[in-house]
Amino acid sequence: MNATAPRALFSYRPYWAQRYGIAPFLPTTRAEMDELGWDSCDIILVTGDAYIDHPSFGMALIGRLLESHGFRVGILDQPAFHEPDSFHALGRPNLFWGVTAGNMDSMVNRYTSDKKVRSDDAYSPDGKAGLRPDRAVIGYAQRCREAHADVPLVIGGIEASLRRIAHYDYWSDKVRRSVLIDTRADLLVYGNAERAIVEIAHRLAAGTPITEIRDIRGTSHVRPLREFVEIDSTSFDTPGRIEPIADPYAMSPEREAAPCSTGEGAPTDDGTLVKLRPRKAPDRATSVIRMPSFEQVSADPALYAHASRILHLESNPGNARALVQRHGKVDVWINPPPIPLTTPEMDALYELPFARIPHPRHGGAKIPAYEMIKFSVTILRGCFGGCSFCSITEHEGRVIQSRSEKSILGEIEQIRDRTPGFTGNISDLGGPTANMYRLACKDRAIEAACRKPSCVYPDICDNLGTDHGPLVALYKKARAIPGVKRIFVASGVRYDLAVRSPEWIKELAQHHTGGYLKIAPEHTEDSPLKHMMKPGIGAYDRFKELFDRYSAEAGKEQY
Ligand code: SF4
Repeated sequence: MNATAPRALFSYRPYWAQRYGIAPFLPTTRAEMDELGWDSCDIILVTGDAYIDHPSFGMALIGRLLESHGFRVGILDQPAFHEPDSFHALGRPNLFWGVTAGNMDSMVNRYTSDKKVRSDDAYSPDGKAGLRPDRAVIGYAQRCREAHADVPLVIGGIEASLRRIAHYDYWSDKVRRSVLIDTRADLLVYGNAERAIVEIAHRLAAGTPITEIRDIRGTSHVRPLREFVEIDSTSFDTPGRIEPIADPYAMSPEREAAPCSTGEGAPTDDGTLVKLRPRKAPDRATSVIRMPSFEQVSADPALYAHASRILHLESNPGNARALVQRHGKVDVWINPPPIPLTTPEMDALYELPFARIPHPRHGGAKIPAYEMIKFSVTILRGCFGGCSFCSITEHEGRVIQSRSEKSILGEIEQIRDRTPGFTGNISDLGGPTANMYRLACKDRAIEAACRKPSCVYPDICDNLGTDHGPLVALYKKARAIPGVKRIFVASGVRYDLAVRSPEWIKELAQHHTGGYLKIAPEHTEDSPLKHMMKPGIGAYDRFKELFDRYSAEAGKEQY
């Protein structure tokens, strides 16, 4: 697994079925397949969300990507779970099933935080609830196996991604096994799945058995054997309570500056320097970290916390090692995270031929999630905040992947020209964090070697580039597009970064806020903020002061 030279996402020779061309919508029925002249699908994606052919929805993004590689992709969206026949609707996939619960974890989608059943589902036509099973990825996987047991089964999406190791399940109040065990899937793809799913599809198309596909980054599988040099995770992180809990990762500045960390000689009592002999570390590419087993983390909260820290520490694609966790008589093996997409790859992905509307089978039904995002544009992925309560870094990674200005402006024009109901307002230019566009470590080599779980906690790292200039330039060009009246920023704001670029706050306040700006300081007190790895409230006060001042300058009363 080479960390520095991934295969370019669009460099593969297309599959022979490319001759069928681009489908207006990926088919959801046999009749639609017939219209396209297909006798079968190469890949069938099963999803708990209604199919919306828009890049904000996972099934469309992955489906269109695989289509661009020549594969015939069918979609079973919200199949009738209690009717096994519905899993036969598109026939037998030639290469694999791809199963996802949808854009949200199905339990979060179905239940409120006090475990009451929700009355609606934002990803269903007319917001109708109950169209997907609880723990949908497990239920769908089971139905796929029943329909065609011999077809390789690949699971992905946020539900599978965040449940790839033994994990605490709020709904049952217990530690559950990796979802790989419960689904008996052949492979799990986690995080940004594009590189992995394309590689899997081409290898299967070339005749490689799925049981031999074991080395792809961003994938996880179950295996019985130990073939790697194993490192006990407790050899570099001590399980147990950390006192004082100022840093959940126990990576205090003192520890980082200590001679044992920097490699410098430590002074002795008589003033002479003792040279530390460097130990040869095992090759990362052929190393695996053995985490405490499912049975151990289920029984011991300290070991659970330790395993969770290890998962976060091994999240940098530049230096992460494989992880392995015993579940009974098998191992769950997690390959290192995927290499982030480049800007040209992000552009090409978001410029695939999406219809940008729900599939016609949903008629005129309103799908709330689509209504919310149909006039918004994703400009970046990832977050380097590393907040301890948040799953974005664990899922999307902490290296920011940004689209080019040209590609983003092109999508705004697409919305203007093609999205029904557009009245001139873009509802969001954003991503996980609105103001991390094009922000990155100043040195790619340092970034690849970095082991810190956050670039902004406890303080903004000196190596982090914080220039918001490219984002300000993007805003100015976006609002100059003919036919565009207003551009709003609705994604979350990282205000400790923003105060480094007052000119961005000025743009935000004077041009991109519609009276109310939603931000989430999470707390006002230092102790809980430290536990969450969030900045102190002083940064919020400074941001508010600047926001109020620039709003007043523009004669706007905003909150
Ligand atoms: S900015 Fe700092 S914390 Fe972030 S990757 Fe670079 S060195 Fe590491």
